[in-house]
Amino acid sequence: MASALRIKNGKVYDPINKIDGKIMDICIKNGKIVKTVPKNTPVIDAHGMVVMPGGVDIHCHIAGHKVNLARKFQPESKRHDVSPRVKALRSGTGGSVPSTFTTGYRYATLGYTTAMEAAVPPLGARHTIEELHDTPVVDKGFYVLLANNVCLNQLLEKGRMEEFREAVAWWMNASKAYAVKLVNPGGDEPWKGRKNSNVDNIDSEISGFNLTPRKIIKALIDATSDLGLPHPAHIHCNNLGHSGNYKTTLETMRTAEGRRVHITHIQFHSYGGELNKNPVSAAAEISDFINENDNISADVGQVMFGQATIMTGDAPLTWTLRNMTKSKWINADTECESGCGILPFSYQEKIYTHALQWAIGLELFLMAKDPWRMVLSTDHPNGGSFMNYPKLIRLLMDKEFRNEEAARVNQKAIAKTGLLDLDREYSLYEIAIVSRAGPARLLGLKDKGHLGVGADADVTIYDEMDDKEAMFNAARYVIKSGEMFINNHEFCADTQGRLIHVAPDYDNKVEDILRPFFEDYYTIQFDNYAVDDSYVHDGKVIPTTSA
Ligand SMILES: [Zn+2]
Repeated sequence: MASALRIKNGKVYDPINKIDGKIMDICIKNGKIVKTVPKNTPVIDAHGMVVMPGGVDIHCHIAGHKVNLARKFQPESKRHDVSPRVKALRSGTGGSVPSTFTTGYRYATLGYTTAMEAAVPPLGARHTIEELHDTPVVDKGFYVLLANNVCLNQLLEKGRMEEFREAVAWWMNASKAYAVKLVNPGGDEPWKGRKNSNVDNIDSEISGFNLTPRKIIKALIDATSDLGLPHPAHIHCNNLGHSGNYKTTLETMRTAEGRRVHITHIQFHSYGGELNKNPVSAAAEISDFINENDNISADVGQVMFGQATIMTGDAPLTWTLRNMTKSKWINADTECESGCGILPFSYQEKIYTHALQWAIGLELFLMAKDPWRMVLSTDHPNGGSFMNYPKLIRLLMDKEFRNEEAARVNQKAIAKTGLLDLDREYSLYEIAIVSRAGPARLLGLKDKGHLGVGADADVTIYDEMDDKEAMFNAARYVIKSGEMFINNHEFCADTQGRLIHVAPDYDNKVEDILRPFFEDYYTIQFDNYAVDDSYVHDGKVIPTTSA
């Protein structure tokens, strides 16, 4: 590992520091960006190349027991997409749910150096951390599922809000999570026990509890905000995938009442039309609301044609899709904490709904007035693999290419959207926002997503090319924490990145409530539940702002 490096003559795109294609030197020392380095320091001549901070994926599914189940039950896709052992790299399998090693290498190939696993029940935290430790190159963290947690629901229905907040903080510490994730708030827990007991709007009564999704959403927004977590409540709204669901999405955003909230894979929540009939685009209604309310951020969850894997805490959704596709599927239960569904899926150009989803995602990108708050994701592997990011970037940057692609897909669907009226083409500066600076800022990762002095030395260098898909498909150099991983297109290291997590303060007295609950309902002893500090070999705690 070179302890110092100078990158010279490259065109630098660093939106956090308002640098837009300026030719300047970037200096690295001891894993950080520094002002300058001595004259005899090794140099990369980046003439004709583009220099950006390493990519940051704000929402993907790459580790933990649901991911592992998805790997195991799709051997057919693995056989055709093996990653061989070459030089510094270990072998692995690919497909839409790659093995841990392959996941890290493939992110690096695209120039990504940070990835956040988006849905982990606290009981799955240990397993998730073990797999994240095995995922090379990238730094990573995960979001813990708390919106179908029986113990929290019971505190909430009794109005014990202080204890609720302390319990949320306890659970963040116990799991070593980075953020709080809500999936189909309140809907999964009753559905696991009784058919047709999912909720259908945010004011539905939740079967078995004196609660509504709105109460859960509001309480978790309050808690994340009071605890000063660096990333706000990360919400997968109710009614994912249903026609007319944009109204639920708008209502969910309104519950924030001006406080920060992040709506994930919002494409899947931007459908107009009537329930059980064909959806139409409601991208304009969603975009208008987000453009006017700067407390709201979102990632798109773009659908890309081809193989995907549905993998979600939204168990009833997977049941619905299973009835449509008749394919193999898994539903799993995690005790008092969440549900989970997995199903192989293929998005096809000629199918009305799939083409509509593809177009709505692009509309959301192209209608966003503030790209800092509408960032890039495919909800990997739900809308398609993260390996589609280069093609997605080309769709955003190249209107001619976009229109050619739009001409190949179901035209009835395109006619239900405003896609062809949108002339916007993203610049490299805006791509740097939606793929690194924006996600880093939304996550509250102050050392990532930029190349200012003091930032982590996570740097990607691409050959500047007209074909942006080819350009973003194969980074020429990738440096993470100052260590060179890809040198002139060749991997030269595969060490693991760090686990990023939070550790909000809490009052120990909350354990007097949690311990008896565990004794009554859990299969695991309370004292064995929390993930010990020693489990996190090289972790980094991001401070909260409440202290
Ligand atoms: Zn997701």
